[in-house]
Amino acid sequence: MRYTTRCGRRINKHKHSRKTTRTIRGRKPDPSAAIVSARRWLRLILIMLLAVLPGVAGERFETGQRIMVYDTKAEALISMPLERYVERALAAEMPTSYGLEALKAQAVAARTRAVAGHCARYPEANVCTDSACCQAYLDDAGQRVKWGLSYPLLRAKLERAVVDSAGKIITYDGKPILVLYHAISGGRTEDVELVFSEPLPYLRGVDSPGEEFGSKYKGRVSVTREEFIKTINDALPEAALNVVELESQTEILRRSESGRALDIRVGGVNMDGRRMRGLFGLNSANFTITFTTKDAVFDTIGYGHGVGMSQVGAEAMARGGADYPNILTHYYTGVSIADYP
Ligand SMILES: [Zn+2]
Repeated sequence: MRYTTRCGRRINKHKHSRKTTRTIRGRKPDPSAAIVSARRWLRLILIMLLAVLPGVAGERFETGQRIMVYDTKAEALISMPLERYVERALAAEMPTSYGLEALKAQAVAARTRAVAGHCARYPEANVCTDSACCQAYLDDAGQRVKWGLSYPLLRAKLERAVVDSAGKIITYDGKPILVLYHAISGGRTEDVELVFSEPLPYLRGVDSPGEEFGSKYKGRVSVTREEFIKTINDALPEAALNVVELESQTEILRRSESGRALDIRVGGVNMDGRRMRGLFGLNSANFTITFTTKDAVFDTIGYGHGVGMSQVGAEAMARGGADYPNILTHYYTGVSIADYP
């Protein structure tokens, strides 16, 4: 049985408690403490070794097609082998615990993005390393810090995903597609024109079953009623929400086939779901709003904009035995998996 003393120290009240107390007071040397200390040192030495050892695959990715990458942290334009970039984007964009076929699908998506055009913010680069603009990026030093002792194993796994899909890109009508992807669709992806402006034949909503294991499949954000009113009225003064009529002033009028809110009546005006998602930092535009006596509560399903490949959906497909071309042709309608010239 455990309880906490008045001075806050937690102790065990059972037949071994006397032994535990003696150890805490330090009257006898504790051999387990020495083992823990030795383990800590060993771990530290291993991490330091990993930090200076060369990469697992060494020069494997140093040849072939090169692209221009703008590193937003280093504020530098870098010429880099395409496959090296793909490995680093993959390290940042998808959990390394995912199955190999899901990782290959992500590698092909990242490669397609890198060769499809130019970064909107830094046009001299094919891609930049800002995930909000192009794709996330984790270089070798960052991987060693993030993965610690697991670095050799995880790096080898990612490199296998890159090597096994090397040179493959997603095309439509013979051209690289505009690749969009997101974490969790919430059961169905979205038609691109409902989120971004231009309709594209290969970015259509499709079912994405089996995503429930994703840690952010469901989410909740609560704000006070006053905060809700102030945020909406600041963004849209014509809304003129007030605390007395709040429930009757707020209504989701229209949803897309995937369940995302398209039009929401807020007082005297309408707001789209994407804007409300942004104002309150919601995981997705697929949400409900309920009001309690004190709060406005958003319950969300999914994570991200919902267009293109769902990463958790890709992992669900991989777990079900799908290979990476199956995954990509499911999420991108009518596309081919082709060799990049
Ligand atoms: Zn960019």
